[in-house]
Amino acid sequence: MIRSFARAAALVALTAATSAFAAYPEKPVTVVVPFAAGGPTDVVARTLAQAMGTQIKGSMIVENAGGAGGTIGAGKVARAAGDGYTLLFHHIGMATAPSLYRKLDFKPTEDLIPIGAVVEVPMTIIAKPQMAQTTLKDLLSFVKTNADKINLANAGIGSASHLCGMLLQSALKADLTTVPFQGTGPAMTALLGGQVDLMCDQSTNTTGQIKGGKVKAYAVTSKNKLATFPELPTLASEVAGFEVGVWHILYAPKGTPADVITKLQTGLQAAVKDAAFVAKMKDLGAEIMPVDRQNSAAAKALLASEIAKWSPIIQAAKVYAD
Ligand code: ASP
Repeated sequence: MIRSFARAAALVALTAATSAFAAYPEKPVTVVVPFAAGGPTDVVARTLAQAMGTQIKGSMIVENAGGAGGTIGAGKVARAAGDGYTLLFHHIGMATAPSLYRKLDFKPTEDLIPIGAVVEVPMTIIAKPQMAQTTLKDLLSFVKTNADKINLANAGIGSASHLCGMLLQSALKADLTTVPFQGTGPAMTALLGGQVDLMCDQSTNTTGQIKGGKVKAYAVTSKNKLATFPELPTLASEVAGFEVGVWHILYAPKGTPADVITKLQTGLQAAVKDAAFVAKMKDLGAEIMPVDRQNSAAAKALLASEIAKWSPIIQAAKVYAD
């Protein structure tokens, strides 16, 4: 009797859990972007949220939590309830922060569950409109000889712009003054206004400004030239081996039920095929991830391999944050 009562209670609990999932999402899902609004991570997250909300039959709202190269927003989601209502949209910084920060208040591979990889975005080397140099060669030699006079904008230690700038300074043996922002959206405003000199940032932030002739553009950090900017050389053509691609992954906090992860994964896979998403990404030079990376297991493997890839490079460059 007692046993059958316990079995019935367990069945009720199981049914409740199943039906709780079946109704997901019952309220808006918040997608935390760990950078300021108006920047490259933000623009991809908002386009994805729009398309993915339709797919999961709910709404996805973007919240910006910038600062400390993305680690503040990422930490916030790492500590959030694993109920499917708080997600994180982040980039390569998730793999570089563990090596760049002596102390990080979350564990990227343990506290967050990757849902799927979304896009990979090339970076571009751009400068304020007043920069006199016209070719990449000229810019690099100007940087080498005038390092103490040049300001380099970034989104804080652990950001993609920081990583790119750090690698460039290390390759050129030039020590520039870095100026951190909460994201490269506000950094772009400063660059346009001539308050900072240089920036390395995703094409998702720079394409419109380059095409509109609002900033000087010098190079792309992809292996090959981009179809969108055939006139721009690769940075690797002057700095051998320089290649950075900024991949983005959508995450949920640990403890999120497997069924919810599956539902989000399915929604993500459909959202990246959405015509408006595809058109916007193409316009901004972002490559949609291959289908076999748009799932939890593959995104988890990508994160682990990128942590392993960047750790020795960052250690060799001897850059840390406390
Ligand atoms: N592009 C920035 C970075 O350097 C982040 C952002 O504002 O999206 O990481």
